[in-house]
Amino acid sequence: MEILLIGPPGCGKGTQGSRLADRFAVRHIAVGDLLRAEVAAETSLGNRVREIMARGDLVPDAVILDLVIPVVEDAYAAGGFVLDGFPRTVPQAVEAKRLFMRYLAQREEERHAASAVLYLDVPRSVLTDRLIRRAQLDGRSDDTAEVIARRLTVFEEATLPLVNHFRGLGRLRVVEAAGAVDEVTKRLTRALGYAA
Ligand code: AMP
Repeated sequence: MEILLIGPPGCGKGTQGSRLADRFAVRHIAVGDLLRAEVAAETSLGNRVREIMARGDLVPDAVILDLVIPVVEDAYAAGGFVLDGFPRTVPQAVEAKRLFMRYLAQREEERHAASAVLYLDVPRSVLTDRLIRRAQLDGRSDDTAEVIARRLTVFEEATLPLVNHFRGLGRLRVVEAAGAVDEVTKRLTRALGYAA
């Protein structure tokens, strides 16, 4: 099982990603968490991306691909994954697919696409409220009011085209994700074709 979770900041990808990964006994790969761990450990990658993340901008595609692809391949070999926060741009999706196909060819497997691409749809007004609340609760330094607005704009500019890319490929399952956490988990599970 390979699931891609796409959605704006504050849509609940992290929470839902970890629930789905538990349910289907696959790895939860949260790219934002991987990056924050690099920043906290002050690795050279972490030092390169700290400012970018603090502004609410996207880390360059090449840096993300170098970080994520080995983790994804490893998780695939171990039985699957829920990938939350990647891809976030059309070039990331296109390049990730190329690299993953090469990996599958090395394994002499013929798989063409992840089993599902789920889009967690939440109105912008709800997202802003959620992100402000989360910043207060968690003390997430990347979530000031200005940065929140920037992250939402970056999502609209860079990631909505990706949503349309998957929609155009007929791969997108849109799930309304503004409701209660348990209800959204049920909707996602049903969107995957399983009983909730
Ligand atoms: P998240 O926790 O998923 O909201 O990610 C936090 C931050 O990490 C984002 O605001 C970006 O700066 C960076 N980031 C996470 N995933 C990606 C990605 N796929 N491409 C570029 N930047 C990313």
